[in-house]
Amino acid sequence: MKPSVFFSAFEPLHEVPQVCDVCHLDPPVLSYEFGIVGEGGEAEEQKGFCCRWCATDLLHQLERAEAQRRAAEEAALKVDEFDIVDFQEPELAAAGSGR
Ligand SMILES: [Zn+2]
Repeated sequence: MKPSVFFSAFEPLHEVPQVCDVCHLDPPVLSYEFGIVGEGGEAEEQKGFCCRWCATDLLHQLERAEAQRRAAEEAALKVDEFDIVDFQEPELAAAGSGR
């Protein structure tokens, strides 16, 4: 699962909190669903209503979550590369000794 954030408009007459669910200060202008991947790889989802300032903040959080995910993936790839190098070394040595 990739980190994601969705915003949508809401019906003002339906159940909408008086204040933003994130900062509890300003009146909400959008509803949001924020999905990230937790430390153990499980999906975590937050839903609620947010003000315009927190909508921007959620985008920044998404950016950070994506950067962390990419860093973790790159770290995992590096470990794979080491495995491949370790695995190939004996073969290279064997090929060299035959000449
Ligand atoms: Zn807010």
